[in-house]
Amino acid sequence: MNKAERCPVYKKCGGCQYQDISYKKQMEMKQEQVRKLLKPFCRVYPIVGMENPYHYRNKVHAVFDRRPDGAIISGVYEEKTHRVVAVDDCLIEDEKADAIIRDIRGMLRSFKIKTYDEDTGYGLLRHVLVRRGFATGEIMVVLVLGSPILPSKNNFVKALRKLHPEITTIVINVNNKKTSMVLGEKETVIYGRGYIEDVLCGQTFRISPKSFYQVNPVQTEKLYAKAIELAGLTGRERVIDAYCGIGTIGICAADRAREVIGVELNRDAVRDAVRNAKRNEKKNVSFYTADAGKIMLQMAEQGERADVVFMDPPRSGSDEIFMASVVRLRPKRIVYISCNPETQARDLKYFTSNGYRAEGAYPFDCFPFTGHTETCVLLTKANRA
Ligand code: SAH
Repeated sequence: MNKAERCPVYKKCGGCQYQDISYKKQMEMKQEQVRKLLKPFCRVYPIVGMENPYHYRNKVHAVFDRRPDGAIISGVYEEKTHRVVAVDDCLIEDEKADAIIRDIRGMLRSFKIKTYDEDTGYGLLRHVLVRRGFATGEIMVVLVLGSPILPSKNNFVKALRKLHPEITTIVINVNNKKTSMVLGEKETVIYGRGYIEDVLCGQTFRISPKSFYQVNPVQTEKLYAKAIELAGLTGRERVIDAYCGIGTIGICAADRAREVIGVELNRDAVRDAVRNAKRNEKKNVSFYTADAGKIMLQMAEQGERADVVFMDPPRSGSDEIFMASVVRLRPKRIVYISCNPETQARDLKYFTSNGYRAEGAYPFDCFPFTGHTETCVLLTKANRA
């Protein structure tokens, strides 16, 4: 049986692009894609893949809907539409998370919880988000509702915890807007601490519902280890961790640096990052909540310097204000982590035209069966600049 037959919704779902291709072949295709895009700048090293490329996603999101015949379904939006494709289990998602989502679906009728209708705004349950700390086993369930009241809340928590005692926290998130964003602003914790913890590279991190956290922790550890190795830290450096999320890279690098400054736009993520620095006893790490470009520009205008800059922007890549300011801070090394080699290639063009030399690109397969690849590129200050 090939993989396409193993996933009945492969063609409709849009989450995977390579489900019908052997893992070996996928790796060759990703290697070739990264080679094409980054070869003009530097040597591209062999991609680092997974021993077991299944069920690697620690975060699972399901949208809820009702079929015309009344059957409740949960799954994903069909690519480029708002039609819901029913998914019971998925080859790349955490199996425990999928089981929790199926059981929540099974509980809705007896709790008289209606699924939310995007067109009319009628109904309650929009999405369920499950996150599992692979190292700690902690599980967070986020119920995204169209309005704040969950009927028989306490009994719902009890019933769900009875089925899955591993759940350590349950949060209600209210999203009453007509939007394609999954999470709304307002949150209420109805069970546990409101966040989970996970361990990466020996450090413990708390993760709140709205904070970004890498979806494939097995590959993330390999990626961070390479990124920190490439930074060439000796303990004397002033390091910037830009687009830092909950502070993972900076905190993992902190023992080898003099000072680490993290910059991140998402308030909840920065709150997690501050607590994470404390939790791991890193006294030389501080964080700013701001647009990374703005902070870097401010630092450049105040004549500040940095020795190493880690940057890990979203899929859209970085921007010129950020990059121009980094160049003004004159770091010896820039370690650029990216989940989109196309925007990374665009940004490398800027850096290599402005006094930096790309030394090597290291691809990591953080997203098996999808068309996405993570890459880490080292840039060093060219002598003449
Ligand atoms: N380095 C982290 C997070 C990478 S994801 C990790 O490995 O886990 C990219 C992060 O950039 C997200 O947390 C997102 O909230 C943040 N971000 C997006 N645009 C930003 C901007 N303009 N300035 C600062 N941070 C931004």
